[in-house]
Amino acid sequence: MEHMSNPTPPLSPIPGFEKGRIYTYIGEVVVSVNPYRRMEIYGKDTIDAYRGRELYENPPHLYAVSDAAYKAMKRRAKDTCIVISGESGAGKTEASKYIMQYIAAITNPSQRAEVESVKNVLLKSNCVLEAFGNAKTNRNDNSSRFGKYMDINFNFNGEPTGGHINNYLLEKSRVVQQQNGERNFHSFYQLLRGGSDELLQSLHLQNDPAAFIYTKEGAATATSNNDRASHKAVMSALEVIGFSAEEINSIYQILASILLLGNLQFESDGESVQILGLEAVGHVSELTATEADSVRKSLLFRTVATGGGEVIEKGHTEQDTCCGRDAFVKALYERLFGWIVSRINSVIEVKDYDPVLHGKNTVIGVLDIYGFEIFDNNSFEQFCINYCNEKLQQLFIELILRQEQGEYQREGITWQHIDYFNNQIIVDLVEQPHKGIISILDEACLTVGKVTDTVCLESMDTKLAHFLSTHNLIDKSLDFKKHFRIRHYAGDVTYSVEGFLEKNKDLLFQDFKRLMYNSANPVLKEMWPDGQLSITEVTKRPLTAATLFKNSIVALVDKLGCKEPYYVRCIKPNEMKSPVLFDDARCQHQVAYLGLMENVMVRRAGFAYRQHYARVLQRYKMTCEYTWPNHLMDSDREAVEAIVTQHGFQDDVAYGLTKLFVRTPRSLFTLEQERAA
Ligand code: ATP
Ligand code: MG
Repeated sequence: MEHMSNPTPPLSPIPGFEKGRIYTYIGEVVVSVNPYRRMEIYGKDTIDAYRGRELYENPPHLYAVSDAAYKAMKRRAKDTCIVISGESGAGKTEASKYIMQYIAAITNPSQRAEVESVKNVLLKSNCVLEAFGNAKTNRNDNSSRFGKYMDINFNFNGEPTGGHINNYLLEKSRVVQQQNGERNFHSFYQLLRGGSDELLQSLHLQNDPAAFIYTKEGAATATSNNDRASHKAVMSALEVIGFSAEEINSIYQILASILLLGNLQFESDGESVQILGLEAVGHVSELTATEADSVRKSLLFRTVATGGGEVIEKGHTEQDTCCGRDAFVKALYERLFGWIVSRINSVIEVKDYDPVLHGKNTVIGVLDIYGFEIFDNNSFEQFCINYCNEKLQQLFIELILRQEQGEYQREGITWQHIDYFNNQIIVDLVEQPHKGIISILDEACLTVGKVTDTVCLESMDTKLAHFLSTHNLIDKSLDFKKHFRIRHYAGDVTYSVEGFLEKNKDLLFQDFKRLMYNSANPVLKEMWPDGQLSITEVTKRPLTAATLFKNSIVALVDKLGCKEPYYVRCIKPNEMKSPVLFDDARCQHQVAYLGLMENVMVRRAGFAYRQHYARVLQRYKMTCEYTWPNHLMDSDREAVEAIVTQHGFQDDVAYGLTKLFVRTPRSLFTLEQERAA
């Protein structure tokens, strides 16, 4: 890689980066460096230049892999996927949008109305999901706080016919609390700053984020997002997608209820807890179409079944009331987000598709998911996110090796085995049934009585002894009452165990669920089907957060595993969002943990470039006297041999059955230069 072979002092400008050459390749993997400025490389001219061309015919670009994925899907009827990874602020979401725009631009030349409408909904869905799922963080003004996988379906003509979105682990704790300098989800500020006076009045809101506990922290924070303009854009996107006026109103009613609930104050006289200012409770009940008294009761009491089957109301302590309320609003927001996604899915779902009539329905999947995270304080969320990255890395290794091996075998070329770090052992450490960390957490959550985080940690220590002794994966040098450290493939991460059990249990009193299920608003009711159960029927414990997440990631990896993968690895050049600074140490670190070194090693052991003989000939025949304008040899392969020999890189190639394999890109660049001369 250009940047790596050129060691420079930290924070010094890098020529390629400065000149705006933000993309490069490792084999077919695109490595992208966030330019932090507007680049004129995404317009119609560029799209035309990449359309239908091969990877090496143009300078590296996202469009080239998008086209490769599209061609594989269209010509070979392969399901493909584009996996985008990188840390927060590295440019994943921007990349995923450019990929979608490219695919939209090259399809449906005849402008058929149904196809245009599908494309429009797919593109507009980004705006809505970003409003509800993104927030300003200290690392990125528009940080995605959820993982997203989107399938785009195509008919036999290669035209988009629909799609499906899966979302992963929304960071719902942000609804009730943000770190200094960060904001809540954009949606709240957009509503408060962009909503009309009439709308805000009907929602019992003031147009000032500083007036609400949940949005106060971010109220004064400078941000490049224009909330007012975004509010308009989101409203219009919701309409285009097909949300009805009632549905849009329900969304705003839920946001307003959350803000009002957050401002409630509680007071305890030592015996029972009171809500201060019952007017707000009335507003919440109006907005959620529930009884005011039921709202009040759900906040202050919980219904429990006694051993004898009797049902009683038990008053909360003040602390339980606050925790219960916070859990409730987090769940409200999470379910709202989930509902929005499924509502979009119901619009873009492929309907009436008959494979016999219409040919195979093929898919391109685009994955924009959180990268590996190491913070000063790493908690349950980082644990889940890093586990997800271990799984994806495992898939990456397997697929890249599998692909390479398969190709060499087919072409009759000897494969040289290379050693790489197989992170399966870490995946096992986390997810193995009965023995892995998730199992141990779940067991602790199920145990009746007070199991503390520390007790759970001790239990991990004994139960994971087999891993510790054989693989040296967990570091013993830490304060064992509070921390554990995992040696992830991307680096060591120390997790603070505080709050793990709470977050894993993700407890929400059944009273809230029942309250919402009994709402007269059908949209709300639909979001809370589990509120149907009465207290005596709730016997089965819901799955824990970690297990739900694990299941969703296992399903995701299975989905990706049966597709032809394309990779985009995003790198964040500096912490300052600067378009001119290239922080060498930080970039090298990312190169390491994105697994790019393994990637380079695999490619080096093999061949960087391979192409069918006919295609090589067609492109480079003018660089050799024996092949220009036509060759008189028996086969294209022999003609290609003549070209290779003429340029003197016969030691750098292997001849497969149908393809030429070139070991280093240098040889290829020689050919390109000769061609241009
Ligand atoms: P997160 O994990 O926090 O969601 P991310 O990897 O999705 O981060 P983006 O939101 O895509 O990061 O990018 C962060 C910011 O960097 C963008 O808002 C934009 O300002 C800038 N940026 C990223 N990619 C590009 C690009 N190709 N051209 C111009 N600016 C870009
Ligand atoms: Mg993002």
